[in-house]
Amino acid sequence: MLSMGIKVFKFGGASVKSAEGVRNLASVVNRFSENLVIVVSAMGKTTNALEIILAKYLDKNLFHTDDLAKLKEYHVDIVKELFNGESDFEDGKISSMFSEIEMFIKANKNTDYNYCYDQIVSYGELISTAIVSAYLNSVNINAKWVDARTCLKSDTNYREGNVDYKASLESSKKIFDFSSNRIYLTQGFIAGTPFNTTATIGREGSDYTAAILANLLDAQDVTIWKDVDGVLNADPKMFSNTCKLDFVSFQEAIELAYCGAQIIHPKTIKPLQNKKIPLYVKSFINPDAVGTKVLHSDVQLQLPPVLIVKRNQVLISLTPRDFSFVIEDSLSQIFAMLYKHRVKVNMIHTSAITFSICVDEDKHYLAAAIEDLKRDFVVKYNSNLELFTIRHYTNEVIEEYISDKKVYMQQLTRSTARYVMDAIER
Ligand code: ASP
Ligand code: MG
Repeated sequence: MLSMGIKVFKFGGASVKSAEGVRNLASVVNRFSENLVIVVSAMGKTTNALEIILAKYLDKNLFHTDDLAKLKEYHVDIVKELFNGESDFEDGKISSMFSEIEMFIKANKNTDYNYCYDQIVSYGELISTAIVSAYLNSVNINAKWVDARTCLKSDTNYREGNVDYKASLESSKKIFDFSSNRIYLTQGFIAGTPFNTTATIGREGSDYTAAILANLLDAQDVTIWKDVDGVLNADPKMFSNTCKLDFVSFQEAIELAYCGAQIIHPKTIKPLQNKKIPLYVKSFINPDAVGTKVLHSDVQLQLPPVLIVKRNQVLISLTPRDFSFVIEDSLSQIFAMLYKHRVKVNMIHTSAITFSICVDEDKHYLAAAIEDLKRDFVVKYNSNLELFTIRHYTNEVIEEYISDKKVYMQQLTRSTARYVMDAIER
């Protein structure tokens, strides 16, 4: 018997931010008769809200209770609207998950920020998938809810868990058994550790979850359902006259994501590329439209100039205190330090005695890294910058976007122009 292919769908926070979004998800799912694995993120801005609750809890002077109550109300309202008050779901499941957050906060003795982050922030996905699964089943879409922590296994590198493919393969093959169920629904972003704790795999990591599951289950394709028509050549919230890219190679997609294109999480491409599993980016508002296909391609696919703005950048320049050259040994020392503090480097430049790096601003990691680097280097930095990238640039496009800007550092290759400059309101 020919086994039916598996499709992996990912619905992000924006697609399930309201009852209407959840209903729309059901109507999208209803269009397909294949085996499905549906990966869902936290609803709307829940992850940000949980980050604030965590920060208040860890800061002994602030109270998180009101924020938590507000977040619960947001979810309960969605549930009420979905079930017209005809379900006891809201009193049961939602309340018990919010109580679990409170119980963790009361009992927890571990002060490690990353550990606490993952135990608390992961509830965003657990709650959203509980609601979505209850709704799907209420409209006769039999989606089996899976706790992602039982199938996606990670180490305890909290907030950036490294996925254990071997362990995840073993458990996923068992859990996603399509002979007993056609549709499975699980959380993006979260994984389980060998110590039965929760780890997350990086902000916006649900795309990555979808890609890993597709790889493990040898899915036929992955679709990321978005509120835009596909991958565009620029963010329409920042630029006018954008156009959709119909086909993008894996290599191009990984470059775009690395430069800061928000449409796909950078780690998403590798698991798909490794098994040549195509990725579709499609609109959940207009599911008939073709969207963008990201695929393996041996030939270079022609693309128009693509503009990418990466915000919250800091430019750091390091000069050895003893005026020695910045060469291999000091470079390896610098990178070891950055790696230790999880600082993400986006662009580098060296001169005889100065090494400049453009990095993501992250208040938890950067300050500690700078303190460490100050021991051997004079450290100077500029913040409030953006990294502006033009892939497939033309001189006209550079002229149009860069000529009147204050540029701190720039790099030009045959395909890509990159500029570190003052952040601009767009
Ligand atoms: N909810 C998580 C976040 O906002 C994961 C995701 O959305 O992909 O970062
Ligand atoms: Mg999200």
